[in-house]
Amino acid sequence: VSHGGEAPSLTDLAARIAGIVGLQHVLDGTRQAAYATDAGESRGLRAAPDLVVRPGSADEVAATMAACHERGVAVVPRGGGTGLVGGSLAFGGGVVIDVGRLNRVLEVNPAAWRMTVGAGLTTTHLQRIARENGLYFPPDPGAAENSQIGGNVATDAGGPHAFKYGTTGSWVTGLEMVIPPGRVVAIGGANRKDVTGYDLVSLMVGSEGTLGIITECTVRLIPAPRARAAMTAVFPTSEAGCEALLAVVGSGLVPSAIDFLDRGSLAAAHGGFPAGLDEDAGFMLIVEVDGDEAEVDASVPVLEEVLGSATQCDRFRTVRDQRELWRWRDTVTGAVRALRGGKLSADVSVPAEHFQDALAASAAVAGEHGLDFCAWGHAGDANLHSTFVFDPGAEGALARAATAADHLLVRISAMGGSIAAEHGVGWAKSGRLSLQLGEEALRLHRGVKELFDPDGLLNPGKKS
Ligand SMILES: Cc1cc2nc3c(=O)[nH]c(=O)nc-3n(C[C@H](O)[C@H](O)[C@H](O)COP(=O)(O)OP(=O)(O)OC[C@H]3O[C@@H](n4cnc5c(N)ncnc54)[C@H](O)[C@@H]3O)c2cc1C
Repeated sequence: VSHGGEAPSLTDLAARIAGIVGLQHVLDGTRQAAYATDAGESRGLRAAPDLVVRPGSADEVAATMAACHERGVAVVPRGGGTGLVGGSLAFGGGVVIDVGRLNRVLEVNPAAWRMTVGAGLTTTHLQRIARENGLYFPPDPGAAENSQIGGNVATDAGGPHAFKYGTTGSWVTGLEMVIPPGRVVAIGGANRKDVTGYDLVSLMVGSEGTLGIITECTVRLIPAPRARAAMTAVFPTSEAGCEALLAVVGSGLVPSAIDFLDRGSLAAAHGGFPAGLDEDAGFMLIVEVDGDEAEVDASVPVLEEVLGSATQCDRFRTVRDQRELWRWRDTVTGAVRALRGGKLSADVSVPAEHFQDALAASAAVAGEHGLDFCAWGHAGDANLHSTFVFDPGAEGALARAATAADHLLVRISAMGGSIAAEHGVGWAKSGRLSLQLGEEALRLHRGVKELFDPDGLLNPGKKS
């Protein structure tokens, strides 16, 4: 577990930490097994931690970090473990700090549209409390039942409704966190406006556990929209679908979500589609509108007109209860994995005008590496999950998929796109920041890390 200096005794460290958090919250061999992977396992990312600790308070997180720091041992923060890029895995060993016990609801203030919760509260739980108070927390990443708000902040998680409402970072006003070598710090707060000092809250958003361990989050909420309606429109080709996408965006309406699935992902997931779907559907747009009843009533016919008159729209369908549709949409990742047993997704985004180019580049790269390919994602944000599908038992298949994904990042950055749109850099894309960040930007990036974590013991090797 040593990262510099003499190798400390793991037993000694475990005993010290047990004294801080209680012996039952230091996990042993079998209980540690789940922490060797996250949801990016199909990329071949695995790393067994030396120790897993589940502290019960920010002070316990701080004392645990301090104990590790004194011994030169790395610390890796972990939320729900739904990350897709190995961000919460302890490559090179170290102590994983699982914040799942920090899941208390500390304040709900419906009148002020705000709540403060422990970082370990699951995303679904937070959404439900908001709903029970007539309010709405819009970020809706796909693994919400298991992901945690601290993890969502750390990855700036998006999801379909980021198109209208922005990613998690748009909703965070205050954080409590533990920074190296083991200090508790509060930044931001309940103020909706605040330019005192640099915007440290935004700096923590998307920092992927490399600057501090988030222990508490204050988020703002909005009154829940009273009505929603969703349309699905099917096109023979992605070109036709992309044309319709431009028409929707140009219609003057602001949909709450615009998602897409291409031919390959529809072929994988069509069986579960709530309304039946042709096996050879080429491209689907899912467009949702929300607001009060009158607003939704007025938007639906406009969208039906735009989609219905789009060239080559094979068919479209409007549903007033869109929950079943989104539940189906959440099954796509699993359905694609089930095709061949292995999949590797590159989560990228591009300026809107390059969306079709990015799809074409993804398919071209797959072809060059002899891989099956499909894509889905958040079309309104031009955010694609370009996915290479393979049989994990086939020799060299995973390595080919990894190379293909890396080549795609090069093409995406050449379009002015982002190599890490909403799933993070983690371990999987570390070393590739220079594709997108210039020399000076990289210098600032590294300087920030150095300021927060001069000894490099917090989630080493990630987002670097
Ligand atoms: C089926 C599926 C669908 C998904 N859909 C989406 C989607 O639509 N949009 C999207 O953005 N993502 C999506 N994801 C990815 C994932 O759910 C998000 O990245 C999520 O925000 C991770 O949260 P987590 O609590 O599971 O974090 P983890 O996986 O535990 O950790 C992720 C990163 O955050 C850090 N971290 C976690 N908690 C803390 C903390 N308290 N303090 C500091 N750092 C911390 C970790 O060190 C790691 O670097 C999906 C994943 C799956 C499996």
